Amino acid sequence: MPDFGKPIAGFGVMLGGMFREPITQQYPEEPAPIAPRYHGRHQLNRYDDGLEKCIGCELCAWACPADAIFVEGAPNSDDERYSPGERYGRVYQINYLRCIGCGLCIEACPTRALTMTNEFELADDNRADLIYEKDRLLAPPPPGAEPTPQQKPARGVDYYLGRAGRAATTAESAAQSQAAEPPR
Ligand code: SF4
Ligand code: SF4
Repeated sequence: MPDFGKPIAGFGVMLGGMFREPITQQYPEEPAPIAPRYHGRHQLNRYDDGLEKCIGCELCAWACPADAIFVEGAPNSDDERYSPGERYGRVYQINYLRCIGCGLCIEACPTRALTMTNEFELADDNRADLIYEKDRLLAPPPPGAEPTPQQKPARGVDYYLGRAGRAATTAESAAQSQAAEPPR
């Protein structure tokens, strides 16, 4: 005697699906909301005064399990300053053909220069355009801030102490170091 129960149960699943609310996403016209911590395109961040946070240390490149990052550091000078300290990231590339979005690079960054945005539309029609460089990774200067390079003396310690953006004046720095000195 053939078992008719199973085919009927199968049709039941199909009929149930026919009357359910459709869940089609109208992408790209109506993009679905992305989880706030989604790992999308990377971003190289700046301080409030426009200087770049990246110091060209290459820790992100060494942490990357997919060998997707290439960094080449270079020295700053007071006449051509990109970052507050000694060095900056002159070349910064991320190869999105390799990147697996794991986020290990942003964990490794000592200055929080590198973070990840929610931007996920990283498709292209050729391989070369999926290697992103600073022109597509570096955040724009904050409102009112100058782009880099800037003419500015090194004040790494102010940025380290969280006074970036209103980099303390020389008088303020001197007063603070005097206050920090132990009494003789
Ligand atoms: S997210 Fe992961 S794979 Fe992508 S660049 Fe960073 S460390 Fe490499
Ligand atoms: S992004 Fe961070 S870890 Fe990578 S080179 Fe720049 S400062 Fe170093």
